[in-house]
Amino acid sequence: MSYSIGIDLGGTKMLITLAGRDGAIIAQRQYLTSAEGGTGGPGEILLRMHQYVLELLASAGAEISKLDKIALCVAGFYEHTSGNMLSSPNLPGWDNFPIKQELRNLFKLPVVVENDAAAAAYGEYLFGAGRGKRNMVMITLGTGIGGGLILEGELYRGGGFAGEIGHIPVLPGGPLCGCGRRGCLEALSSGTAVAREGRRILQQGRERGAILRQVAGDVDNVQAEDVFKAAAKGDEDAASVVGRAAYYLGLGLAAVVNVLNPELIVAGGGMAGAGDSFLKPVGGYLFQFAVEPSAKMVSLVPAMLGEEAGIRGILSLPGE
Ligand SMILES: [Zn+2]
Repeated sequence: MSYSIGIDLGGTKMLITLAGRDGAIIAQRQYLTSAEGGTGGPGEILLRMHQYVLELLASAGAEISKLDKIALCVAGFYEHTSGNMLSSPNLPGWDNFPIKQELRNLFKLPVVVENDAAAAAYGEYLFGAGRGKRNMVMITLGTGIGGGLILEGELYRGGGFAGEIGHIPVLPGGPLCGCGRRGCLEALSSGTAVAREGRRILQQGRERGAILRQVAGDVDNVQAEDVFKAAAKGDEDAASVVGRAAYYLGLGLAAVVNVLNPELIVAGGGMAGAGDSFLKPVGGYLFQFAVEPSAKMVSLVPAMLGEEAGIRGILSLPGE
């Protein structure tokens, strides 16, 4: 029996999975990415990752000599040709870090690294909502907006950074994005953007967003989830925030649909969890903005694998 290790490395937590050769998950544990009092730098995080992998193996009675690869997915601009992490918004201090080589040095095993949304796209394509489709776009709607492309049955990377749907410019001169530019889709339709607009409404006075104020409790701590909840309960101000996020997401996805003519768009992440109340208006705007033949062909559906999508995808790619 041989095993693989799959790791989903995020800004706050890392999910480590021991899988069998067929991809079946044998054991899985979640850890905090940064240790208390630690530097949060890549050297320290990789050392703890190594230790966690050994712990997980020991708990499952598996030996490190039986591992065939380390498969890591991570948010950020990962360059395939060099194996370097160029920058990651969630992992400060990881700029130009040779992550692939460092993992090889640490584990002495073949390694595969992929952007988290690209890995999630591959997971949904093989095992989830995208099964049986040849051309599929994945969009992850969380604190940021990620994207991954499956074209003609293959994960498409372009020069390494393809699928950055969250950074499609949809409002020139609009709000500042984490990437440093203005008016990106992520700055208008992500969970962070929805929460920011919700806060803005409550700051405009007590007559605005009455239900949102009740749901959120603390004006300074409005979450995207609160805005969705308030909108569902009939708060018109919250509904207008959700509507605006849906509008720009439909606009951005229309550009994707016009260029790629996919059969399917799979929406994952926390905001897709709001279900039809969000995806339906997004689909409406998408249909309104995209060219008609492509708009008629595409379906927008929720993802099926939840947080497992990235791990399932990355474990299916060969190490080297
Ligand atoms: Zn951006």
